[in-house]
Amino acid sequence: MNRNYSIFKKVLEVTEEGLWIIDNNRKTTYVNNALCQMLDYSLDEFIGKTPSDFVDDKNKAIFQEQLSKIDITNHRTYGIELQAKNGENIPTIFVATTVYNEDHQLSYSFAMVTDMREIKAMKEALCEANEKLKISENLIRTILDTQENLVVVTDGKKIFHGNSAFLNFFNLGSLEELAQTECLCVWFVLRPSLHKRDHKCSNWLKEIEESGWRVDGVGKDGEMHNFIVVSNPYPNQDGMYVVTFNDITKLQAEKEFFVHLASTDTLTSLHNRAKLNEMLDFMVKKSSRYQEIPFCAIMYDVDYFKHVNDTHGHLTGDFVLKELSQLISKNIRTSDFIARYGGEEFIILLSNTNLEYALEVTEKLRSLVEKITFGEFKITCSFGVYQFTQGDTTSSIIDKVDKLLYKAKQNGRNRMEY
Ligand code: GH3
Ligand code: MG
Ligand code: MG
Repeated sequence: MNRNYSIFKKVLEVTEEGLWIIDNNRKTTYVNNALCQMLDYSLDEFIGKTPSDFVDDKNKAIFQEQLSKIDITNHRTYGIELQAKNGENIPTIFVATTVYNEDHQLSYSFAMVTDMREIKAMKEALCEANEKLKISENLIRTILDTQENLVVVTDGKKIFHGNSAFLNFFNLGSLEELAQTECLCVWFVLRPSLHKRDHKCSNWLKEIEESGWRVDGVGKDGEMHNFIVVSNPYPNQDGMYVVTFNDITKLQAEKEFFVHLASTDTLTSLHNRAKLNEMLDFMVKKSSRYQEIPFCAIMYDVDYFKHVNDTHGHLTGDFVLKELSQLISKNIRTSDFIARYGGEEFIILLSNTNLEYALEVTEKLRSLVEKITFGEFKITCSFGVYQFTQGDTTSSIIDKVDKLLYKAKQNGRNRMEY
């Protein structure tokens, strides 16, 4: 019995929890080491005092309130601040138990006292960190939401966050709606499309990389938009990426418009000389390499056009050039190429065509031109026809076909020479 008691006492002395025993008059009969250290009083200073002697007035009220519950329950757990010797209020959790003897008389009470200072400090630090996290999260969200680019956070399949521009573009009501998306590939088509109808992608970002970081997506406007995609690893999160979709549809359209402008003749809407040079260069290279691919060039010029201008005015002259251009364009193959070389001179390039067929085409065009009428007058054109031969260059072809055209003029106009 004695031995058990001493073991029990030893346990009480080494436990980190404070232990407080009071008699039926609420006088302290025992406190353990932990409680002495917590409040910085010696055992002697505790003995004979009531717990209320170790709290300030505000906390006395808490003890009073708990005392009133003594008849209702044997166990009471509550928070209270105990006052240490130096006056510091120490937050504790007080677990009080009342023990009765066989006659149901209050025998003694004991309490386990837990020092909450560390936990309280940890809780406060956690709250502060949470608050800071919330602020930085809001900041990041605000930055993302003010972006015009569509931005998502993804692991390459599921979307974990999307900015306002993304939700807005696809007409999504909320982030929750977005989070339900099975895979990012639901929203975009790769360029060129790697996806088959029944395709199940395993890592969409990898597939975008293979497609050159270009994708298409249909927005709520029903239009197909073209995006350049940029992907960056999400900091401290393996396999997570911040992916930005930069809508280049407008830029693309503008680029195409300027490219068209730079290669088109404004009066006739035919290709201009710059585009002609580019095309001729390409065809020369192709036919130089693959000798079995022939091509022909036709150069034609309106006969006595100066006379048209002089007699009917420059505006009528312009009109004639436009009408003539339309007529010729309509009567060549779509695979053929036509450009205004300058003034009232034009060049047609007939791909995959030998001289024999080119002469047929030219004769057809010559005959069509002489048949159209502009009110009281008509026009004719003279033609030079030339088939590419090995060794020819862009300029040698122009030179040769120009000479043939000159020859047609010399020989009476409204005719072709080859
Ligand atoms: P030829 O049969 O020898 O070709 O005689 P031509 O009168 O056609 O030849 P010329 O080179 O003497 O005259 C070409 C004329 O084409 C002169 C120029 O004013 C006119 N011209 C060139 N570009 C345009 C244009 O854009 N609009 C109009 N209306 N006339 C143009
Ligand atoms: Mg002329
Ligand atoms: Mg001329």
